[in-house]
Amino acid sequence: MKVTVLVGGVGGARFLLGLKAALGLPAVGPGETEHEITAVVNVGDDIWLHGLRICPDLDTCMYTLGGGIDTERGWGHAGETWAVRDELAAYGAEPDWFGLGDKDTATHLVRSRMLRAGYPLSDVTAALCHRWQPGVTLLPATDDRVETHVVVDDPANGDKARKAIHFQEWWIRHKGELPAHRFASIGADEAHILPAARDAITGADAVLLAPSNPVVSIGALLEVPGVRDALRATSAKVVGLSPIVGGRPLRGMADKCLTAIGLETSAEAVGRHFGARSQTSPARPGLLDGWLVHTGDTADVPGVEVRSVPLLMTDTDATAQMAREALELAGV
Ligand code: GDP
Ligand code: CA
Repeated sequence: MKVTVLVGGVGGARFLLGLKAALGLPAVGPGETEHEITAVVNVGDDIWLHGLRICPDLDTCMYTLGGGIDTERGWGHAGETWAVRDELAAYGAEPDWFGLGDKDTATHLVRSRMLRAGYPLSDVTAALCHRWQPGVTLLPATDDRVETHVVVDDPANGDKARKAIHFQEWWIRHKGELPAHRFASIGADEAHILPAARDAITGADAVLLAPSNPVVSIGALLEVPGVRDALRATSAKVVGLSPIVGGRPLRGMADKCLTAIGLETSAEAVGRHFGARSQTSPARPGLLDGWLVHTGDTADVPGVEVRSVPLLMTDTDATAQMAREALELAGV
């Protein structure tokens, strides 16, 4: 069975641990199975800092599945140290708000060097995964540069002035506290879906949308030209899992992102936002066949089969059960 999952960082990576377990793989590391899991990973968070290319969602997936993640923080390396960050600060080197760990820096150095030598991000990711052995194929949604920016007020330039800042600056430096007017995927106009990602979606037996941030992870993936088309073209069923439980995101600030795009923070609003695949509105073609919401939540999403099941990724067993429910709803 071929299962393809669209993922962001922490939520996506945790879901992949459970999916691996559900398909008979060890949650962490490689293993033998007749099944094939491909993760199409958000690149909207990616950023150049200090001459380094940083891909937070790809790295979170790679470290989590490869056994290198700091499980408490949920991101970055276990046993990380911060000498590089502190030395950069001593030089007054900006920006100073990004947590650049020493071990992480080695990943970014390898990646940046390969990118500068002309290798596409997908090849670089495969090379990095050669070390980490995540047990699933991690594909960036595109080899092109598509970065999420956030439009915020710019009071320094007048009452009505606005500016766009990189998503990382909004998320980390400002902790999502600057009111966001909208999100923009810079570079999307000239970008193309990675052909292998398109094939993984159109050739899958089941396509799942992880319970990742619906705006800046799944939403950013959908901004890459070709991703929505692939989801609509696949003969597999497309099933999403709600990241919103009881009207709240479980970790992170998805509520702030949903508010910025004018949506309520509820499993129903997110399901309707993704929409039914049977929905043929040319302006906003939908992409779901099935939508899983947490026990006790309800969602009426026209044209989509909705089921309520436990959606708390408390441990691998619980997450594996979520994955089984998603696969069952996808009819495989
Ligand atoms: P990020 O890129 O690191 O922010 O991670 P993702 O976008 O992949 O995932 C973040 C989302 O995961 C948040 O919107 C959370 O609400 C959601 N999330 C985290 N833990 C859980 C969980 O246990 N269950 C569900 N259903 N969603 C979760
Ligand atoms: Ca992310």
